[in-house]
Amino acid sequence: MTADHDLVVVGGNAGGLSAAVFARECGVQRVSILEPGTALGFPDVVGPSRLDVGYGEQVTSIELDGDDLVVSTGRRQYRTRAVLVAERTARPDWEPPVPIVESDRVLVDRLPDHPSDADVLVVGHTDHAVELAVTLVDKGSGVVVAAGGMDPSRLSPVALSLLNRLERERQATLLYRSLPIAIRSVDGYPMADFDDRRTPDLQFDYVVFASGRRPQTTSEVGVSPAALASGRVWFLGEPDETPDDVPTAPGWRVGRELVSVAFPEITMPEPPRPERRRGFPEVIDELRAEHYNATITHFEPTHSDLWVLRVRPDHGSVSHLPGQYASLGLGYWEERVDDAVDPDLDARFDKLIRRSYSISCRIFDDHGYLADDSRADELEFYIVLVPPTPDNVPGLTPRLALKKPGDRIYLGPKVAGRYTLAPVTDPGGTVILLSTGTGEAPHNAMVTELLRKGHHGPIVSAVTVRQWADLGYMEQHRELERRYPNYHYVPLPTREPDVPKRYIQDLITEDVFGTEHGVALDPANTHVFLCGNPAMIGLPTDVDGTVTYPETTGVVELLVQRGFTLDHRNQRGNVHFEEYW
Ligand SMILES: Cc1cc2nc3c(=O)[nH]c(=O)nc-3n(C[C@H](O)[C@H](O)[C@H](O)COP(=O)(O)OP(=O)(O)OC[C@H]3O[C@@H](n4cnc5c(N)ncnc54)[C@H](O)[C@@H]3O)c2cc1C
Repeated sequence: MTADHDLVVVGGNAGGLSAAVFARECGVQRVSILEPGTALGFPDVVGPSRLDVGYGEQVTSIELDGDDLVVSTGRRQYRTRAVLVAERTARPDWEPPVPIVESDRVLVDRLPDHPSDADVLVVGHTDHAVELAVTLVDKGSGVVVAAGGMDPSRLSPVALSLLNRLERERQATLLYRSLPIAIRSVDGYPMADFDDRRTPDLQFDYVVFASGRRPQTTSEVGVSPAALASGRVWFLGEPDETPDDVPTAPGWRVGRELVSVAFPEITMPEPPRPERRRGFPEVIDELRAEHYNATITHFEPTHSDLWVLRVRPDHGSVSHLPGQYASLGLGYWEERVDDAVDPDLDARFDKLIRRSYSISCRIFDDHGYLADDSRADELEFYIVLVPPTPDNVPGLTPRLALKKPGDRIYLGPKVAGRYTLAPVTDPGGTVILLSTGTGEAPHNAMVTELLRKGHHGPIVSAVTVRQWADLGYMEQHRELERRYPNYHYVPLPTREPDVPKRYIQDLITEDVFGTEHGVALDPANTHVFLCGNPAMIGLPTDVDGTVTYPETTGVVELLVQRGFTLDHRNQRGNVHFEEYW
């Protein structure tokens, strides 16, 4: 009998499919996937690569017969030249990387019973985490992947391209650098605490952990010693993951290694080297098409280094609460406005740089009424250029500096943040919004919302900048003051000869709100919002109950001295904050 297959892949996961697709691209003809389940996680991959799939096929043995390998399942036998065992098994010794609450909303390797419309956090950085995220998106969940430690170049090609697609189509948010430090239960729902200032704590309907997996053992799939000795039965996994001395390679490499051993007659393509691709305009167009999912519709410089811009996504909604933030991204392949050189540019060339940005607001619509952003189809941002320093080469803003209306950009799907007006429940209460520079952005949205909803208590928005020219929304704020007597705008340029230098802290120590605007800073009926430079905010550290404030006094310390309380993870208060770095 002659072989009826060239390659049989056991397990239709991302790694198995990647190897199968690679083998087909190299010219391996008859490739079949044996999937023990009833469906593939990624059916779209199969058709274009002309892969056969056998569903419900549980492999019982892999033996050598003459030159052929014979793979037996409960249903039939496949004679083939090579086999890849891609299926992987949960590791019994796996522990979640963070403490988690006991809850039927915190799951391991399992989908929620009702995933449609649920907000789900997937924790994990492997192919397996991507597989869970893709399945959840297909079932209608809003997905965030906390993928701290993920190295995209180590994902299998199928997982990587699906991940890129999820991002491009704004179907999932990836937090590449973040891992929660704990999963708590708040009001019955899991709350993920992050230790990364760029990722505030987020609440979800479900949290799904992608557990650690290991390759199958030879006895689990019944590989005979003779079949193994042929060198044509391979396993998907890192070599140090398997107790058996078997040929093993990870998902991004296994296809290449298996084909080179089992099909020596095939000449394989050279792996792409990113540095080769640099400088070709068509490569840049390709990368933009692959990663960008939104268009810059408006780009108005307040001056050369400070911009108000609007971004309209191709897909998905832009609904948000005033005060929340979204993420923007541009590729390392984009030109910079300065001549700083990004460290490791060759290795990162085809990656995105993503940063969080508070959502601002145009304040007035085209007809001069207060803007109602709940009806908008685009988001407004207020962004300043960050210059390079000896310690830091900024990635995103020097690239954004060269953009213009019509250019493409990446807009993350998840609008997030707990820095909102939710605590302001009394329309007669006092609201004080204090910021540095572009920290004014969320306050523009909050002020507009408060006034639109008829808030009649005093509202003050104060911002420090260097010069008058650094106030991108000055005109709109002055117009608001003219229309609404309960609103006060307090710009504080610190480097203008005609203005005494005053910082936000001075407004409190000198009681400027009371003496100049008639607004009492009374903790009984006031909410204070602080946004921007962490030094202005001055958050204390709390080590085992010992609270220490920073050396340079920030606003939090001054407010706490006056009877205010910080709104923090486990404690509601009337001082709310959003740090920009
Ligand atoms: C929740 C959140 C919301 C944010 N919203 C805004 C916003 O609305 N507008 C905005 O301009 N930035 C905002 N930022 C900061 C933004 O995410 C980027 O850090 C910033 O644009 C610099 O990116 P970069 O890649 O050019 O430089 P990076 O290499 O990331 O440089 C970071 C350094 O730049 C400096 N820096 C960062 N942001 C600012 C700033 N706004 N003003 C002055 N110096 C800064 C700090 O020294 C920081 O350490 C926000 C950050 C967070 C966490």
